[in-house]
Amino acid sequence: MPTHCLKPAILPEGLTAILDHLGVGIALLQPEQQLVYCNAAARSLLGMTPGDHCLPQIDGVAVEVGLAANTALMTGPSGAALKLVATPLRSGLTLLVVETSAEESGAARALFETESGYSSLFDNAVCGIYRDRPDGTPVRANRALAVLNGYASEEKFLRGVSSTSVNWYVDPGRAAQFKQLINAQGGVRDFVSEVYRHRSREKFWITENAWYVRDAAGNAIYIEGTIQDATERVLGVAAIERQANTDQLTGAASRFHFMNKLNVLTKDQGGVGVLFSIDLDKFKEVNDQLGHGAGDAVLKSVAARLRRIGGPEATVARLGGDEFAMIISGSAAPMKADMTAAEIVRALRAPVEISGYSANVGASVGVALYPAHAATANELLNHSDLALYHVKANGRNSFCIFNPEMKIRQQRRKALEDDLREAISGNALELYYQPIVATKTTATVGYEALMRWNHPRRGFLPPSQFIAVAEEAGLMTELGNWAILRACRQIVLLPDHVTVAVNVSPSQFRSSGIVDTVKQALADTGLAPPRLTLEVTETVILSGEAQASRVIDELLALGVKLALDDFGTGYSSLSYLQRFAFSKVKIDRSFVAGIETKPANLAIIRAIINLAKDLGMDVVAEGIETESQAAILRTENCGLLQGYLYGKPMPYREIVANQAVHNLRSYLPARPAQSQPVETMKRTVNNAL
Ligand code: C2E
Ligand code: MG
Ligand code: MG
Repeated sequence: MPTHCLKPAILPEGLTAILDHLGVGIALLQPEQQLVYCNAAARSLLGMTPGDHCLPQIDGVAVEVGLAANTALMTGPSGAALKLVATPLRSGLTLLVVETSAEESGAARALFETESGYSSLFDNAVCGIYRDRPDGTPVRANRALAVLNGYASEEKFLRGVSSTSVNWYVDPGRAAQFKQLINAQGGVRDFVSEVYRHRSREKFWITENAWYVRDAAGNAIYIEGTIQDATERVLGVAAIERQANTDQLTGAASRFHFMNKLNVLTKDQGGVGVLFSIDLDKFKEVNDQLGHGAGDAVLKSVAARLRRIGGPEATVARLGGDEFAMIISGSAAPMKADMTAAEIVRALRAPVEISGYSANVGASVGVALYPAHAATANELLNHSDLALYHVKANGRNSFCIFNPEMKIRQQRRKALEDDLREAISGNALELYYQPIVATKTTATVGYEALMRWNHPRRGFLPPSQFIAVAEEAGLMTELGNWAILRACRQIVLLPDHVTVAVNVSPSQFRSSGIVDTVKQALADTGLAPPRLTLEVTETVILSGEAQASRVIDELLALGVKLALDDFGTGYSSLSYLQRFAFSKVKIDRSFVAGIETKPANLAIIRAIINLAKDLGMDVVAEGIETESQAAILRTENCGLLQGYLYGKPMPYREIVANQAVHNLRSYLPARPAQSQPVETMKRTVNNAL
């Protein structure tokens, strides 16, 4: 019958007495770990009671001898660090020597003592806390760590898990990386990995912090650390990344992802590729006429078509609205750039079928090659945009490959834009006035105000040289508002019967402030509203009928007049005359020019005049240069004429002088005009300005 200490048949009594006096623990074990003998020191070190006939559990791990390494380190029940050395004997028994290392035991005891005060913190912490031996054998694990791994308690965890790192990381390489980091730096921080829950083998993400606990000699006696579930954080970041990288509607790459790709292409040594900038041509119409659902369907279909053309290697991106881009990298791409661009134009021209409707858009495509056309990502984008701009300016629905000439033109435009900004602030803009005369009497009834730019190097520039630039630079509203106020200020100083017509650009008309601008100008100057006419072209109607109609009504409510300018050039829909409450229609000069030779022109002018008359509108014919044109229009009963025949656009001072002469004549009908009073009047007006 085994006793706690000896099998007397094996050890003579004298020997056991000696052994009991040793400070070193000695034990003999049978092959199945049954205890044959152990001396008093072993009993005390291992915390055994007299009835024990097996080695006890220490730190939750059964002390097992015959360990592969023959040596094991562990903490004894008293907190002392123990070193166990197992030696197989020829008889088949195993000799186990149990020693304490003075230093180890000191370090471990100190630790034990410090820790006992923190045990509640350890047990109740929400993040997992553990202590392992340096080889990964778990020594302690708090409840949170046990639960994280699918166990109800520390005891169950320690019983179920023999190594924390084996079969723990989903990527087996992580264990080695962890080891390497902790060895190199003594600790790891925020080490994020995907791991298996030890018990259920379910995958989840964690972040760990870990460090070595060392004895006074600097030997690592434990690895300790904290572990937190990072699943939400990792998946959240992944979702955010996915969201940042893709356009939700079309699944195409986002602008952010696209710029990254472009940077990769242009930073890569020897990278070759092509950038296509793609703008849909009539997307706004689809959206307005068929609704946003149809617009969305068109965008999705465009992205799908581009993906098909570009193939799996291409990056198709939606940069915003109806703007797309595609990057194809690889040395074959530049050679096929024009073919690919043509294919894009063709593919996007095909209608998109949306529940019974078919939506027709088209595309303009600008192309730039890397590295042939640009050195950086931004330059490449800028150059393909310039090529795109070129296509749009030349009728759209086509493609164009960048060439350096475009860059030069852009720089010129940019310089002009800068000059124009300066002109606005430096009062270098002026209004010229062209007379509008009554057909019957040829008396001047009013003037059209036409903008001129007194350019420091190029002299007086007509609007054709700067209006488009101002429009593009977003300066047109400011310019146009200035013109309205300026014209009101100048015309109010002329006799009451003199009217003025001011041109309003489509963007200015669309901007919400136009009504307020006009109201303010009238209030500031005291000009009677009927003396002011605003001239707009048909484009303002095309860009949104309902809105145009509302603004027209609001302006008319102020008492000003509205003229439809350049009639005969654009869509020239006669129905516009009926549908919108214009006070005047102006027949374009290109139409008037053919009046003598083209019977069709005359027939149309006649129709316009008659319709306008029925609708109670005035008709002005523009660009009258010859007496014979004037004569024909007189016969057709066109009420008002404007053109070089009656006067070119001229500076304000000149019309002031003309008015003064005119006024003087009406004061002194019998006598010829005299210069003295005219000069006096001019001075009066000048002083008022
Ligand atoms: P528009 O409103 O149709 O103005 C008439 C244009 O025809 C003026 O050109 C005028 O000088 C020109 N013109 C008048 N009679 C004759 C003629 O007998 N023969 C010929 N060949 N031309 C004649 P301008 O001053 O160069 O203005 C061009 C356009 O610029 C204007 O066309 C108008 O659309 C725009 N514009 C001018 N001033 C302004 C402005 O203050 N604001 C806005 N938004 N546009 C303006
Ligand atoms: Mg005009
Ligand atoms: Mg006109």
